[in-house]
Amino acid sequence: MVSKNILVLGGAGYIGSHTCKKLHAERFTPITIDNLSNGHQQSVQWGPFEQLDILETDKLATLMKQYNAQAVMHFAALIEVAESVKDPESFYKNNVLGTKSVLEAMNQAGVHHIVFSSTAAVYGQPADNNPLKEDASLSPINPYGETKLEAEKLIRAEANIKSVALRYFNACGADTNGDIGEMHYPESHLIPLVIQTALNMRDQINIFGTDYNTPDGTCVRDYVHVDDLADAHINALKYLINGGENVACNLGSSNGYSVQKIIESVKNITQENFKIVEEKRRTGDSAYLVADNARAKEILNWAPQKDLETIIEDAYHWHQSDTYKNFWEKISERKKELV
Ligand code: UDP
Repeated sequence: MVSKNILVLGGAGYIGSHTCKKLHAERFTPITIDNLSNGHQQSVQWGPFEQLDILETDKLATLMKQYNAQAVMHFAALIEVAESVKDPESFYKNNVLGTKSVLEAMNQAGVHHIVFSSTAAVYGQPADNNPLKEDASLSPINPYGETKLEAEKLIRAEANIKSVALRYFNACGADTNGDIGEMHYPESHLIPLVIQTALNMRDQINIFGTDYNTPDGTCVRDYVHVDDLADAHINALKYLINGGENVACNLGSSNGYSVQKIIESVKNITQENFKIVEEKRRTGDSAYLVADNARAKEILNWAPQKDLETIIEDAYHWHQSDTYKNFWEKISERKKELV
């Protein structure tokens, strides 16, 4: 019988753990490999866990053989854009050399399929306010985007490995049943920050730039529910198992929402009022980043199912959960001690 074991690198993280839940529901067995630098062991609930860094090539290959893995899903990466500007070496090591190590281990173990977590950051600053197709110019403007693009190229160059690179736009939301959700520290993403403000966990929300060339002057992004992203991974896996060729696909809704609109929606859904401060632009932000998702629809038979309201409702519930509150309190205390 063909193995249903899938090695999920970075499976204790945000998108990885939601994908493990879906894999399990689809009768695959997710084997999570994570070094727990950003992931959480409590998010590993649907299969075995092995604590390991992806740079440990031989051990990785041994695990692939031991579990007779049919495919690899590779979420393990550093993802914080601002941190990548401060510390590009770490990003190169984790995201590029880490991916090289994964590919070497796959070749050693004879695993031939990989679903790779890429990002809209590979496109950089688009020239105009139009949805991006996959063949748009690839010109990242920060080390995070550069390392992800480099990793995509390394993967595609492998003769014995077939791949799907999934270019996420703005991942957000949380598991609808509340089992898992986003737990980052420090938090830098818009939706969790606005929700934290609504929940009185911070004093204000800053709008980074109100003079962009967009309808209300604030940046426009394409927000996509993490459960929809997880679905896309399952479809990508099945596509590869069925003999699919190498491909990169945008994962977004093709709808753009401004920062202003996100703040208004959180206010409406939570019925909370809070302080909003107009700040200057954040370095490296593009005015408009929205996916053209036609290719994912056609090739992966995927379309996002959850709208902005559901995203905010699910994220709001998650941020009120005991798991999230405990995480935030503990980590905030620890970081305060270090300051
Ligand atoms: N943003 C903001 N205030 C914040 C955090 C983010 O105005 O406190 C803006 C940011 O400038 C960008 C959008 O919200 O235009 C989405 O940012 P996020 O960091 O969530 O994702 P990114 O698009 O940078 O990956």
